[in-house]
Amino acid sequence: MEATVSLISYTPQPDALCSVASKNCVSKEVPGFDMYANSLNTALESGHYSILEHATFTFSIENMTRVTLAQFTRHRMASYAVKSQRYTSAKGVDYILPGRIIELLNSNDESFNKFDQYHTSLKVFLDNLIDNKIPNEDIRYLFPEGTTTNMIVTMNGRELLHFFELRCCNKAQWEIRNIAKMMLKLVKEVAPIMFAKAGPPCVSGKCREKNPCGKA
Ligand SMILES: Cc1cc2nc3c(=O)[nH]c(=O)nc-3n(C[C@H](O)[C@H](O)[C@H](O)COP(=O)(O)OP(=O)(O)OC[C@H]3O[C@@H](n4cnc5c(N)ncnc54)[C@H](O)[C@@H]3O)c2cc1C
Repeated sequence: MEATVSLISYTPQPDALCSVASKNCVSKEVPGFDMYANSLNTALESGHYSILEHATFTFSIENMTRVTLAQFTRHRMASYAVKSQRYTSAKGVDYILPGRIIELLNSNDESFNKFDQYHTSLKVFLDNLIDNKIPNEDIRYLFPEGTTTNMIVTMNGRELLHFFELRCCNKAQWEIRNIAKMMLKLVKEVAPIMFAKAGPPCVSGKCREKNPCGKA
Protein backbone atom coordinates (compact mmCIF):
# COMPACT_ATOMS: atom_id res chain seq x y z
CA MET A 1 0.00 0.00 0.00
CA GLU A 2 1.30 3.43 -0.95
CA ALA A 3 0.12 6.96 -0.26
CA THR A 4 -2.10 8.54 -2.89
CA VAL A 5 -2.35 12.26 -3.62
CA SER A 6 -5.17 14.22 -5.27
CA LEU A 7 -5.37 17.94 -5.93
CA ILE A 8 -8.93 18.54 -4.75
CA SER A 9 -9.11 22.33 -5.08
CA TYR A 10 -7.03 25.32 -6.12
CA THR A 11 -7.35 29.03 -6.86
CA PRO A 12 -8.64 29.38 -10.45
CA GLN A 13 -6.00 30.43 -13.02
CA PRO A 14 -3.14 30.50 -10.51
CA ASP A 15 -0.46 31.62 -12.98
CA ALA A 16 -2.67 34.41 -14.31
CA LEU A 17 -3.74 35.61 -10.87
CA CYS A 18 -0.15 35.83 -9.61
CA SER A 19 0.88 37.60 -12.81
CA VAL A 20 -1.89 40.14 -12.24
CA ALA A 21 -0.67 40.58 -8.66
CA SER A 22 2.85 41.24 -9.88
CA LYS A 23 1.66 43.60 -12.64
CA ASN A 24 -0.39 45.51 -10.12
CA CYS A 25 2.82 46.57 -8.37
CA VAL A 26 4.04 48.37 -11.46
CA SER A 27 0.78 49.50 -13.16
CA LYS A 28 -1.10 52.76 -12.88
CA GLU A 29 -4.41 50.94 -13.26
CA VAL A 30 -5.40 47.63 -11.69
CA PRO A 31 -4.46 45.15 -14.43
CA GLY A 32 -7.03 42.74 -15.88
CA PHE A 33 -6.46 39.04 -16.39
CA ASP A 34 -6.03 39.67 -20.13
CA MET A 35 -2.79 41.53 -19.39
CA TYR A 36 -1.13 38.43 -18.11
CA ALA A 37 1.52 36.93 -20.36
CA ASN A 38 4.88 35.76 -19.09
CA SER A 39 5.17 38.47 -16.50
CA LEU A 40 5.20 35.82 -13.79
CA ASN A 41 8.59 34.57 -14.98
CA THR A 42 10.04 38.06 -14.79
CA ALA A 43 8.68 38.54 -11.28
CA LEU A 44 10.06 35.20 -10.09
CA GLU A 45 13.47 35.86 -11.61
CA SER A 46 13.66 39.06 -9.57
CA GLY A 47 12.77 37.17 -6.35
CA HIS A 48 9.28 38.69 -6.00
CA TYR A 49 7.92 35.47 -4.45
CA SER A 50 5.23 37.01 -2.24
CA ILE A 51 2.90 37.25 -5.26
CA LEU A 52 2.66 33.45 -5.19
CA GLU A 53 0.87 33.66 -1.84
CA HIS A 54 -2.30 34.70 -3.71
CA ALA A 55 -2.75 31.19 -5.12
CA THR A 56 -3.53 28.24 -2.87
CA PHE A 57 -3.63 24.51 -3.61
CA THR A 58 -5.48 21.90 -1.56
CA PHE A 59 -4.49 18.22 -1.61
CA SER A 60 -6.04 15.10 -0.20
CA ILE A 61 -3.34 12.64 0.85
CA GLU A 62 -4.46 9.13 1.74
CA ASN A 63 -2.57 6.24 3.32
CA MET A 64 0.42 8.23 4.43
CA THR A 65 2.15 7.14 7.62
CA ARG A 66 2.29 9.04 10.89
CA VAL A 67 6.08 9.07 10.33
CA THR A 68 5.52 11.27 7.31
CA LEU A 69 2.79 13.27 9.02
CA ALA A 70 5.35 14.36 11.63
CA GLN A 71 7.72 15.56 8.91
CA PHE A 72 4.97 17.21 6.87
CA THR A 73 3.54 19.26 9.71
CA ARG A 74 6.94 20.83 10.39
CA HIS A 75 5.99 23.01 7.41
CA ARG A 76 4.22 25.81 9.24
CA MET A 77 2.94 27.89 6.34
CA ALA A 78 0.20 25.35 5.61
CA SER A 79 -3.25 24.36 6.85
CA TYR A 80 -3.94 20.79 7.90
CA ALA A 81 -6.92 18.57 8.65
CA VAL A 82 -5.78 15.13 9.81
CA LYS A 83 -7.93 12.08 10.50
CA SER A 84 -8.48 11.85 14.24
CA GLN A 85 -7.32 8.78 16.13
CA ARG A 86 -9.74 9.66 18.93
CA TYR A 87 -12.93 9.94 16.88
CA THR A 88 -12.37 7.15 14.36
CA SER A 89 -12.42 3.46 15.21
CA ALA A 90 -9.20 1.79 16.28
CA LYS A 91 -10.51 -1.43 14.67
CA GLY A 92 -8.43 -2.60 11.72
CA VAL A 93 -5.90 0.24 11.76
CA ASP A 94 -3.34 -0.37 9.09
CA TYR A 95 0.32 0.40 8.82
CA ILE A 96 2.95 0.55 6.11
CA LEU A 97 6.31 -1.21 6.23
CA PRO A 98 9.22 0.06 4.15
CA GLY A 99 10.06 -2.13 1.12
CA ARG A 100 13.52 -2.91 2.49
CA ILE A 101 11.97 -4.44 5.62
CA ILE A 102 9.32 -6.33 3.62
CA GLU A 103 12.12 -7.91 1.57
CA LEU A 104 13.73 -9.23 4.74
CA LEU A 105 10.41 -10.50 6.06
CA ASN A 106 9.82 -12.35 2.81
CA SER A 107 13.27 -13.90 2.90
CA ASN A 108 13.81 -17.30 4.44
CA ASP A 109 15.76 -15.81 7.30
CA GLU A 110 14.10 -17.26 10.39
CA SER A 111 15.04 -14.37 12.66
CA PHE A 112 12.54 -12.19 10.78
CA ASN A 113 9.65 -14.66 11.04
CA LYS A 114 9.05 -13.49 14.58
CA PHE A 115 7.64 -10.27 13.16
CA ASP A 116 4.57 -12.15 11.92
CA GLN A 117 3.90 -13.37 15.46
CA TYR A 118 4.38 -9.85 16.83
CA HIS A 119 2.07 -8.41 14.16
CA THR A 120 -0.68 -10.98 14.88
CA SER A 121 -0.47 -10.62 18.64
CA LEU A 122 -0.53 -6.81 18.42
CA LYS A 123 -3.76 -6.97 16.38
CA VAL A 124 -5.34 -9.38 18.87
CA PHE A 125 -4.21 -7.21 21.78
CA LEU A 126 -5.66 -4.04 20.19
CA ASP A 127 -8.97 -5.83 19.55
CA ASN A 128 -9.02 -6.91 23.22
CA LEU A 129 -8.55 -3.33 24.32
CA ILE A 130 -11.44 -2.23 22.10
CA ASP A 131 -13.63 -5.02 23.52
CA ASN A 132 -12.71 -3.85 27.02
CA LYS A 133 -13.97 -0.37 26.17
CA ILE A 134 -10.55 1.28 26.47
CA PRO A 135 -11.01 4.65 24.73
CA ASN A 136 -9.35 5.28 21.36
CA GLU A 137 -7.33 8.11 22.85
CA ASP A 138 -5.48 5.52 24.96
CA ILE A 139 -5.37 2.65 22.46
CA ARG A 140 -3.52 4.80 19.93
CA TYR A 141 -0.45 4.86 22.20
CA LEU A 142 0.21 1.30 21.02
CA PHE A 143 0.01 1.98 17.27
CA PRO A 144 3.25 1.66 15.30
CA GLU A 145 4.60 4.91 13.80
CA GLY A 146 4.00 3.41 10.37
CA THR A 147 0.21 3.55 11.02
CA THR A 148 -1.54 5.15 8.07
CA THR A 149 -3.62 8.29 8.11
CA ASN A 150 -5.40 10.64 5.72
CA MET A 151 -5.10 14.39 5.60
CA ILE A 152 -6.16 17.46 3.70
CA VAL A 153 -3.42 20.05 3.33
CA THR A 154 -3.53 23.52 1.80
CA MET A 155 -0.42 25.48 0.85
CA ASN A 156 0.11 28.61 -1.15
CA GLY A 157 2.41 28.72 -4.19
CA ARG A 158 5.30 30.24 -2.31
CA GLU A 159 5.24 27.62 0.46
CA LEU A 160 4.89 24.85 -2.11
CA LEU A 161 8.05 25.99 -3.90
CA HIS A 162 9.88 25.88 -0.56
CA PHE A 163 8.36 22.47 0.30
CA PHE A 164 9.38 21.02 -3.09
CA GLU A 165 12.90 22.40 -2.67
CA LEU A 166 13.35 20.48 0.58
CA ARG A 167 11.23 17.41 0.02
CA CYS A 168 11.75 16.52 -3.67
CA CYS A 169 15.48 16.26 -3.02
CA ASN A 170 16.94 12.76 -3.31
CA LYS A 171 18.30 13.22 0.20
CA ALA A 172 14.79 13.67 1.66
CA GLN A 173 13.14 10.62 3.22
CA TRP A 174 11.54 8.32 0.60
CA GLU A 175 7.87 8.53 1.64
CA ILE A 176 7.61 12.32 1.91
CA ARG A 177 9.73 12.60 -1.26
CA ASN A 178 7.32 10.37 -3.20
CA ILE A 179 4.36 12.41 -1.93
CA ALA A 180 6.09 15.71 -2.76
CA LYS A 181 6.82 14.50 -6.29
CA MET A 182 3.17 13.51 -6.79
CA MET A 183 2.07 16.94 -5.52
CA LEU A 184 4.52 18.68 -7.86
CA LYS A 185 3.24 16.72 -10.86
CA LEU A 186 -0.34 17.78 -10.06
CA VAL A 187 0.35 21.49 -9.57
CA LYS A 188 2.55 21.66 -12.67
CA GLU A 189 -0.52 20.75 -14.71
CA VAL A 190 -2.54 23.70 -13.40
CA ALA A 191 0.23 26.27 -12.81
CA PRO A 192 3.03 25.44 -15.28
CA ILE A 193 4.76 28.83 -15.06
CA MET A 194 4.75 29.01 -11.28
CA PHE A 195 6.24 25.54 -10.88
CA ALA A 196 8.42 25.39 -14.01
CA LYS A 197 11.62 25.38 -11.97
CA ALA A 198 10.22 23.75 -8.84
CA GLY A 199 12.12 20.94 -7.17
CA PRO A 200 15.38 20.51 -5.31
CA PRO A 201 17.96 23.31 -5.61
CA CYS A 202 19.92 21.33 -8.26
CA VAL A 203 16.97 21.73 -10.68
CA SER A 204 17.40 25.49 -10.94
CA GLY A 205 20.84 26.10 -9.47
CA LYS A 206 23.37 24.45 -7.25
CA CYS A 207 23.02 21.55 -4.79
CA ARG A 208 23.44 22.67 -1.19
CA GLU A 209 23.86 19.19 0.29
CA LYS A 210 27.06 18.42 2.22
CA ASN A 211 26.98 14.89 0.80
CA PRO A 212 25.26 15.25 -2.59
CA CYS A 213 23.40 12.29 -4.11
CA GLY A 214 25.47 12.67 -7.28
CA LYS A 215 22.36 12.65 -9.50
CA ALA A 216 21.83 16.40 -9.93
C1 LIG B 1 16.29 16.32 4.78
C2 LIG B 1 15.68 16.91 6.02
C3 LIG B 1 16.08 16.47 7.28
C4 LIG B 1 15.54 17.02 8.44
N1 LIG B 1 15.94 16.55 9.65
C5 LIG B 1 15.43 17.09 10.79
C6 LIG B 1 15.86 16.64 12.08
O1 LIG B 1 16.70 15.76 12.20
N2 LIG B 1 15.28 17.19 13.18
C7 LIG B 1 14.34 18.19 13.09
O2 LIG B 1 13.87 18.68 14.12
N3 LIG B 1 13.91 18.62 11.88
C8 LIG B 1 14.43 18.10 10.75
N4 LIG B 1 13.98 18.54 9.53
C9 LIG B 1 12.89 19.53 9.48
C10 LIG B 1 13.41 20.95 9.25
O3 LIG B 1 14.25 21.38 10.29
C11 LIG B 1 12.24 21.93 9.11
O4 LIG B 1 11.51 21.96 10.33
C12 LIG B 1 11.28 21.55 8.00
O5 LIG B 1 11.96 21.19 6.85
C13 LIG B 1 10.36 22.75 7.71
O6 LIG B 1 11.13 23.73 7.06
P1 LIG B 1 10.94 25.28 7.26
O7 LIG B 1 10.98 25.63 8.70
O8 LIG B 1 11.92 25.99 6.35
O9 LIG B 1 9.55 25.46 6.58
P2 LIG B 1 8.16 26.13 6.91
O10 LIG B 1 7.70 25.91 8.28
O11 LIG B 1 7.35 25.57 5.82
O12 LIG B 1 8.41 27.66 6.73
C14 LIG B 1 8.69 28.23 5.47
C15 LIG B 1 9.63 29.40 5.68
O13 LIG B 1 8.92 30.42 6.41
C16 LIG B 1 9.83 31.08 7.27
N5 LIG B 1 9.40 30.85 8.65
C17 LIG B 1 8.43 30.01 9.10
N6 LIG B 1 8.27 30.11 10.42
C18 LIG B 1 9.17 31.03 10.83
C19 LIG B 1 9.52 31.55 12.09
N7 LIG B 1 8.93 31.17 13.22
N8 LIG B 1 10.47 32.49 12.14
C20 LIG B 1 11.10 32.93 11.04
N9 LIG B 1 10.85 32.45 9.80
C21 LIG B 1 9.89 31.52 9.70
C22 LIG B 1 11.21 30.47 7.02
O14 LIG B 1 11.88 31.23 6.04
C23 LIG B 1 10.87 29.09 6.48
O15 LIG B 1 11.90 28.53 5.67
C24 LIG B 1 14.53 18.03 8.35
C25 LIG B 1 14.13 18.46 7.08
C26 LIG B 1 14.68 17.92 5.93
C27 LIG B 1 14.21 18.41 4.58
